[in-house]
Formats: sequence, C-alpha cells, structure tokens
Amino acid sequence: MKTLKIKQAHAAKIKKGYPLILKEAVLSKDDDITEGSLIGLTDEKGGFLGKGYYGVQNKGIGWVLTQNRDEPIDQRFFLSRLTKAFQERNELFGDSDTTAFRVFNGEGDGIGGLTIDYYDGYFLIQWYSKGIYAYKESVVTALDELSDYKAIYEKKRFSSAGQYVEDDDFVKGTRGEFPIIVKENGIHFAVYLNDGAMTGVFLDQRNVRKAIRDRYAEGKTVLNTFSYTGAFSVAAALGGAAKTTSVDVANRSLNRTIEQFSVNGLDHEAHDIKVMDVFNYFSYAVKKQLSYDLVILDPPSFARTKKRTFSAAKDYKNLLKETIAITKNEGVIVASTNSSAFGMKKFKGFIDAACKETGTSCTVLEEYSLPEDFKTVKSYQEGNYLKVVFLRIHHR
Ligand code: SAH
Repeated sequence: MKTLKIKQAHAAKIKKGYPLILKEAVLSKDDDITEGSLIGLTDEKGGFLGKGYYGVQNKGIGWVLTQNRDEPIDQRFFLSRLTKAFQERNELFGDSDTTAFRVFNGEGDGIGGLTIDYYDGYFLIQWYSKGIYAYKESVVTALDELSDYKAIYEKKRFSSAGQYVEDDDFVKGTRGEFPIIVKENGIHFAVYLNDGAMTGVFLDQRNVRKAIRDRYAEGKTVLNTFSYTGAFSVAAALGGAAKTTSVDVANRSLNRTIEQFSVNGLDHEAHDIKVMDVFNYFSYAVKKQLSYDLVILDPPSFARTKKRTFSAAKDYKNLLKETIAITKNEGVIVASTNSSAFGMKKFKGFIDAACKETGTSCTVLEEYSLPEDFKTVKSYQEGNYLKVVFLRIHHR
C-alpha cells in the first residue's frame, strides 16, 4: 500500500473526520498511483491518519475509508458499511407508501464516491470515479448478501466533471421492463433505470414534494420551472392545485410529464406543459400579465442552452427577481438549489438581495435540506448540497 503525506492543516481536518482527499492536501507526489489503489495517509511527521482509496473525481483524488489502523479494506469492510446503511433505512424499507429512496449515500455512509438507490426491488449504483468502480465486485457481493433484489443497474459517472458515461447500465438479475412504477408518500412515479443519466425522479426532494402536496397546493395556481418530468407539478395537482404549469426546455420533458400525470390518474390536459426556456417564459408571463400563487424554482447548478449559460452561484439572485415579478401578492416561492458551491447562509443572502432589490418583503416559512436517507457527515458540509426555502412574498 502506498502512503501519502498530508500537509499539516489538512491533516488536522482529516483527524476530525473530513473524508475527502484533496489534491492540494497531499505533500508527496500522487501521479503514479493507479485508480482504485488503497492508500495510507500520514501527517508530515509520519503519524497515521487513515486509509482510503485513490479515485480522481471532479473534487478530490480519493476518499478516506477508515481511521482505524487495524481495519482491513476488504469484502467484509464493504459488507459492514452497507449493512449499517441498510439497517438505518429499515423504516423506509417497511413503508409501503414509499418504495424509492437512497440506501447508501457516499461519504455519509462511510464510502465516498458511491451511492445506491432503491427503486421497488431494483438497485441503482452510481460510481463517481474509476477508482471506486474497481470495487464493483465487493459492492455487488454485499448487495447479494443483503437483499433479494430483482436486478442491479449502475451509472458510471467517472468522466471528468462527474458526467454520466453512456452505456448499457444493466449489471445483474432479471432485466426490468421500464418504466417501473415506484411510490413516494403515495405519489406514483414512472422510473427508467436504463435510459441515460437520470431516472425520472430526484429522490432527494421527497419531503419538499410532500410539503407542497399536503400544505401549499390546494386551490392554487402553480408554476413549476425547470420542471424535468413534472414531479413537483404532480405533487401539487394531487394536493388539489387549481392548475399547474410546467416549464422545461428539454423536448423529452413533455412526454415524461404527461406520463407522470397519467400514472397518478390525473388528467394532464387540465394542466399546461411547456417545452420552453424558463427565461423566455418569464418574459412571456410578464407580457401576458400572468401571475401565480405558488412558484417552484429548482434550476440545475449549471446549464448551457444555445443562448446563455446559467450558474446558480452567479445567477440565482436574478432568477429570483424574475420569479418575484410573476408571483401573486401573498404568494409562495419554493426556492431550491442543489449547488454545492455555496451553503444555506449564502443562499439566503441571494434571497435577501432579490427581495430587497425588488422592494418586496419576504418571509421565510420553512427550510429543507437533504432527507434522512441522504445521510451526510458534519465534517463534510459540501455533501449537504440541497437547500430549499419556502418564501411568502408581500409586494409593496
Ligand atoms: N425540478 C426538477 C428537476 C430539475 S432538473 C424535479 O424536481 O424533478 C433540471 C432541469 O432543468 C432539466 O430538466 C433541464 O432540461 C432543465 N433546464 C435547464 N436549463 C433550462 C432553461 N434555461 N429553461 C428551462 N429548463 C431548463
């Protein structure tokens, strides 16, 4: 096993549980280490810090796996981490209203660069580096021991920016017929595990969808921007929304949104689904003097269309200002971001600035971060990426 010397300041962080091995933290050279190699970490004086694996991601060059000198990283290690993770999701496994959730959340469950989601008997493994992919057999063997699953699928996300590598994503078991229909607090979602990078539903928004359905939708006009397959629109419609409008620039979003309405027994023709750039929709809405009781704003961290690039860190404030302009007085904005480039404090700063600059007084009604199955560790706040703020708008 190769040993990497860690600079003193970083060594102190790793001692406190920081799990990511940053390139700039390493004193010795790391160029000749192969993906998947186990590495020992020491401080500058050679004092033991931990053991981990080498795997280059968009962030970092690997993850600490144990701070226990005597714990071997072998099949038993993977089984023990997965077993613990499964036990912690016992309640979700027993919940017949929710059949899709995360069973293993990377560093939060002790193995960075690896996530596993459960979709009603199917597992979806996501590998975030070639390094962690080297442990595929150990992870699959652990799943074999823990569950009588229908099949395992995978997403390889180890190209440079953590982007998905196109492939047949089937690993083993009996191939599913997609879409499969999963449930989340009784809401149905059509899910595809072998059709590109995304499955049709983002499982980290479970609590937000429930809040919208149960407490914010009844009788309201709802605008869902960056709507993807319309999961928030469906939640609002099930909660009794007067009408929802879903806006997404991707062509595929139309059929996929119609499908999500249909699998919930909702008439999609009673709702609007627009394939359109959100920024153009804002101009259109202003021109037509449209306004909404509830607006959901959940943009990607980064997006590039032909006309513009959007970055949440740079552009969220302006996006909110445009949203405020088409929100009814006393209406609610659900401001959401999955950007790990900033935390809740900075996000609230964007919100405050947008409210001030539009002369609006905004009241925070509630806040959400990742749900409990997306387990995170205190020492690595970047992993706690989701931030959702429900805002009441008072126009002056
Ligand atoms: N809110 C969704 C997830 C959004 S994923 C949900 O909860 O399911 C981000 C979506 O933004 C993608 O579907 C992408 O097509 C869309 N998108 C990116 N840039 C856009 C733009 N300028 N206008 C409209 N949609 C955009």
